[in-house]
Amino acid sequence: MRGGLTPAWTVIFVPPTPRTSTKRVGVKMRTVRVLAMLVLAMLLPALALSWSWIDTQSTSAQQMAQRLVAQERLMAVLNDSLDTYRQATLAVRAATLPPPNMMMPLGGRITSWFSRARLHPILHVYRPHKGIDLAAAAGTRIVAPGTAVVASVTRRFGFGLTIELVHSGDVVTRYAHLRSAIVHAGDRVTMGQAIATVGSSGLSTAPHLHFEVLVKGTAVDPVAFLARTRTVPVASPRASPRASPRATPVLGSAPAGGTH
Ligand SMILES: [Zn+2]
Repeated sequence: MRGGLTPAWTVIFVPPTPRTSTKRVGVKMRTVRVLAMLVLAMLLPALALSWSWIDTQSTSAQQMAQRLVAQERLMAVLNDSLDTYRQATLAVRAATLPPPNMMMPLGGRITSWFSRARLHPILHVYRPHKGIDLAAAAGTRIVAPGTAVVASVTRRFGFGLTIELVHSGDVVTRYAHLRSAIVHAGDRVTMGQAIATVGSSGLSTAPHLHFEVLVKGTAVDPVAFLARTRTVPVASPRASPRASPRATPVLGSAPAGGTH
């Protein structure tokens, strides 16, 4: 029976107490092999799994890092295009809007307001006054109320020497009764830049500026219009209107209200 002809392993169980006799169990080689095979069969998949997991982990870590770099690049590109898009959108919007924070072209006192029917001081007939009259001493500098291109510098009957500026948003500003023009047709001007001097050319009772604002060809109240440009959200924060020191006339020296 035990320890016969077939070579076998003998497992000796040693009891914890010295009096109890030890036990011997013979284990055949075949059984040991089968057991070893079983253990291996159980361990191998686990080993393989753990190896592949570690491999996957390191691979995925690398991939993750690469993916992160790629995503960062993508984000940068997206941000760039978003900025470009934003700027393009703002540029398109800016072109359809009048310049923001437009300023008065002259600091003089308003002697005649925008009106649908006004008794003309010289012609003595009722006709609309399509702008405002700003009284100022002859020679006082008139500034561009916002970024514009000089559309024309002409002499007109009634209006005298007249300048027209074209702004974004289909806005035209007109300056009449000028003494002299500082700019030429085609010039690009910025807000606060001197464009002309106050005069009394054309049909005028005293030196003053006749100032008109035309939106899509229709005259609107310049005071209300300029005020509205101050509520337009500004794309790029602009500094407060650059007031050229020469643009502000000495109010005390202004004549007693010239009009046309
Ligand atoms: Zn006028």
